[in-house]
Amino acid sequence: METFPIDSHDKPVSVLVIDDEDLVRQVMCELLEREGFATAGFADPLAALASLASVDYSIALVDLNMPTMDGIAVIEAALRIQPSLACLIVTGEGDLATSQRALTAGAIDYMLKPFDIVAVRTGLERALRIVALRETLRTSDAKVQQCMAELAFLNRQLVVARNAAQLANDAKSRFLASMSHELRTPLNSIIGFSHILKSSQFPKTWQQVEDFSSHILQSAHHLLAIVNEVLDLARVESGKVELHIEAVQLAPLLEACRQMIGQQCAQHGLSLHVAAGKGEAVMADVLRLRQILFNLLSNGVKYNTAGGSLKIAVATLPAGDVAIAVSDTGSGIAPEMMSRLFQPFDRLGRDQHAANGTGLGLALADRLARQMFGRIEVDSVVGKGSTFTLVLPAAPPVG
Ligand code: ADP
Repeated sequence: METFPIDSHDKPVSVLVIDDEDLVRQVMCELLEREGFATAGFADPLAALASLASVDYSIALVDLNMPTMDGIAVIEAALRIQPSLACLIVTGEGDLATSQRALTAGAIDYMLKPFDIVAVRTGLERALRIVALRETLRTSDAKVQQCMAELAFLNRQLVVARNAAQLANDAKSRFLASMSHELRTPLNSIIGFSHILKSSQFPKTWQQVEDFSSHILQSAHHLLAIVNEVLDLARVESGKVELHIEAVQLAPLLEACRQMIGQQCAQHGLSLHVAAGKGEAVMADVLRLRQILFNLLSNGVKYNTAGGSLKIAVATLPAGDVAIAVSDTGSGIAPEMMSRLFQPFDRLGRDQHAANGTGLGLALADRLARQMFGRIEVDSVVGKGSTFTLVLPAAPPVG
């Protein structure tokens, strides 16, 4: 053999020699060692099989006729322990039936005794090629397994991404459907009343002309409010709104809120309580913070009951955030409606006659709060009232 037989770990290829005849075994081991192999010789097949459990051999030369165990049974047992082992049967019986039996049991070849060096080399070269092929197969198989695992992982990611895209697409379709519906309602009113005003077939009193005109004006204002809020929501959702996050003192802001909402409260016969707080400050965009609070407060007025109250309170939470709670004594929100609260255009079944609105205020407030690293929490009891709490990061103490 011209090349030194080494395995994939740069170690001499190890050969297990199982033969009960001491002389044959020793000669065989010596011959192989001289050829550059590492050998381990066993007279007892059971001891050889036991060693297979802990030592990695590449080739096994197994005597066919041994008193304690038939060589073919040894090969079958050895292959069960190390399936990649290249087994050669060594025999003095050179008949076709023996070689067939050996090959059926999983041997790759057989050698005839007494053997000469040329026969041994040929047999081992063949075994080495098979060992190398099996090693290549094993590493390719491992690579295929790894590729398949990566492919499965990518597939799972693809499914998640596709589902998310599908959900986003469904949400957009729902949004567009609701928007068309909401735009059509005031538009129909504008078109209908304009037709009546224009038509000579419908005689009208001045009072009617005045009423119809004011319906048209109201619908036009409502339409403008929807368009403005939709544009604002689209800008916020696409991340195109630039927020100027800074420390905002809450006391002056709450005072401004009191003045903003005070008149509406008086008109609806509501009492307004603004708890001064203890000098809390939050990190926020002041204009957007004012927009969120105004939305919560005007909802607190719109959905309140006559003679009720509206409260604003401030507290520092254990985690260090600041909570601004707006509580009303209104109709409350049923638990099953809660998940729909921040959906654009979802007015939870209310119509324009019950209370003016677009169904976009809370959706916008929720997105804005989240962009300012905050959130809106809701607590409500039907018939008793609701508390909408805006939670924002506290501003770091000054000095
Ligand atoms: P809008 O007030 O224009 O309808 P919002 O997005 O502000 O839109 O609110 C969505 C819906 O949530 C309202 O139509 C109303 O049904 C319900 N809602 C909001 N705030 C309150 C509240 N304080 N009490 C009871 N229901 C409320």
